[in-house]
Amino acid sequence: MNSMNDNRREFIRKISAASFVIGSGLLPLSSFAQMDGSQSQQNQKIKIFNGRVLTPYRVLPGGTVVVENGKIIDVSDQNIDIPGAIEIDAKGLNISPGFIDLHVHGGGGHSFLDGTVEAYLKAAEMHARHGTTAMYPTATSGGKEELFKNLEVYELADAQNTMGAQFMGMFLEGPYYSMEQRGAQDPRYIRNPDPEEYKEILSRTSIIKRWDSAPEKEGSLEFARYLKSKGVMASMGHTNAVYEDVLVAFENGYSLATHLYSGMAGVTRRDSFRFAGGVQSAFLIDEMKVEVIADGKHLPAPLLKLIYQRKGADKIALVTDSMRAAGMPDGDSILGSLENGIKVIVEDGVAKLPDRTSFAGSVATTDRLVRTMITLADVPMKDAVRMASITPANIMGIADRKGSLVPGKDADILIFDNDIQIEMTMVNGNIVYQKK
Ligand SMILES: [Zn+2]
Repeated sequence: MNSMNDNRREFIRKISAASFVIGSGLLPLSSFAQMDGSQSQQNQKIKIFNGRVLTPYRVLPGGTVVVENGKIIDVSDQNIDIPGAIEIDAKGLNISPGFIDLHVHGGGGHSFLDGTVEAYLKAAEMHARHGTTAMYPTATSGGKEELFKNLEVYELADAQNTMGAQFMGMFLEGPYYSMEQRGAQDPRYIRNPDPEEYKEILSRTSIIKRWDSAPEKEGSLEFARYLKSKGVMASMGHTNAVYEDVLVAFENGYSLATHLYSGMAGVTRRDSFRFAGGVQSAFLIDEMKVEVIADGKHLPAPLLKLIYQRKGADKIALVTDSMRAAGMPDGDSILGSLENGIKVIVEDGVAKLPDRTSFAGSVATTDRLVRTMITLADVPMKDAVRMASITPANIMGIADRKGSLVPGKDADILIFDNDIQIEMTMVNGNIVYQKK
């Protein structure tokens, strides 16, 4: 994106932030008389006070977070005086780092595969209303030309994204997968890693930040090493790998297990012998990180508790893996693109195939993931928040600027109650959502 777009985006964000604060009655209108995106306006400090600050390493009751130029400049355990600042009273609620979703296919009725800027923007806005401040739009297996088209749309959308969760790069989910574990992935595209193909793709774009494959496939270790050399995170998913494969895969760069339990083997038997699958391998290799679809549907309470007990808050990233129906009422929807997708039904908080024999995608939002870990898996709020903020930031190597409320980081901030009902979402210092 160019600097002109940057400036325009910044300007629109300032306007939207201003309208919220004015609407809340905290500021006289004259404070925004000259809203022109100039340096003086960008220097306006914002003070969020009277909240329970989850840094999220610790909890500061009655704390304050101060923002300037889109960054956090101060965090305190008291109500500190900031002369001239815009003041936002958190009214005793939680002040938390924004949630980072590593794995999301759409929401608000839109899929990133729809191939339109509108789909990206509307999905990002819906998720922001539910606590996501940064996301990795995820594309499932498809053709190369379709991918290049999608990357173009991503860039256009990114330049116009003023009211949604920030796009942090794309996650390619496939197509170098195990046919047996492909799940909802289109079998026509499943294949072994093809060096000519992936090298060409990565030479044409720097938007891809994460790529998923099955490490037992021929060429998959070389693939992971190549990804690493390009700064792309390699994750293992839709895989039939057993422990011996996973250990070698881990040594070659596969550091994250995609949606643990889904699209991977458990204990399997070949003749008389039992083998540990991807699930047990992820537990056994201490340093391996795991993704969890914590919608309370894909995994029941005992498994959520088991994962938390075994891996802990610094190895678990809560992800929505949500399809287009996230944030929409129950009823009919489409899994995949509008053009090539399949009809599904959304009910009971999850998408199902029309004959109800199988789930057909998650409709979760990040607030729900955190709420589920607290209510269903008995996880303390501080840890549930970590799994949605600093842990995913660490996994993607963006923890220098995202994932916690500490001075110097981007001002991605939420205010929510103890039921994780979002009251306010701030992205890079700009309020993109306030509950009415
Ligand atoms: Zn997915």
